[in-house]
Amino acid sequence: MAKLPVVMPLHVLSHPLGAHVLTHLRDKTTKPALFRTLSYQISLLLALEATRDLATHEKAIETPMEPTVGRVLAKPLVVVPILRAGLGMLQPFHDVFPDVSVGYVGLERDHHTAVARSYYCKLPPLAGARVIVVDPMLATGGSAAQAVTVVKAAGGTEVVFVCIVASPEGVAVMAAAHPEVAVYTGALDRALNARKYILPGLGDFGDRLYGT
Ligand code: URA
Repeated sequence: MAKLPVVMPLHVLSHPLGAHVLTHLRDKTTKPALFRTLSYQISLLLALEATRDLATHEKAIETPMEPTVGRVLAKPLVVVPILRAGLGMLQPFHDVFPDVSVGYVGLERDHHTAVARSYYCKLPPLAGARVIVVDPMLATGGSAAQAVTVVKAAGGTEVVFVCIVASPEGVAVMAAAHPEVAVYTGALDRALNARKYILPGLGDFGDRLYGT
């Protein structure tokens, strides 16, 4: 039987607060302090979306009134920010999922080949975990695809990718490289410009976050 192509699931945030926060993130007059708060807020909404389907199992407990059976998360959660801009999305994962483990992947673009190369990689055990790779701007898709490759090579089997703004080009690269990896984004923008920035986008995320 012919194998059907796997189509990468793309989830675009659909929440009025998400649209509101994103508009202020895009606004070039927004200063770094507010930009960090807005990044936190939209990353929190995205963290909830990207974990909506997490498995749970039953747990017997006693309330102050009587025994009952609740549900708790069944799998460990690992979040992996791509350095450096991905750090701007990390805190809400910590706040909502106190037991989350954190790994880091640092990537830089080789000036000769234009291919992203991993210069730093520190990952906790990934077997059996939901691994959430985060990077705010899915532009060319090169870094995202490379980071997911690194995570898979380290044993990640249930991997999703979360960004704040995606380009159609980046989504296509991810779909080709990792068709089973769901992408969660705050917005799917129009295109990349000649310098590989997203349009309309929000400019250089790292620079706006750190005021550089
Ligand atoms: N990285 C950014 O910070 N912004 C873009 O538009 C593309 C990549």
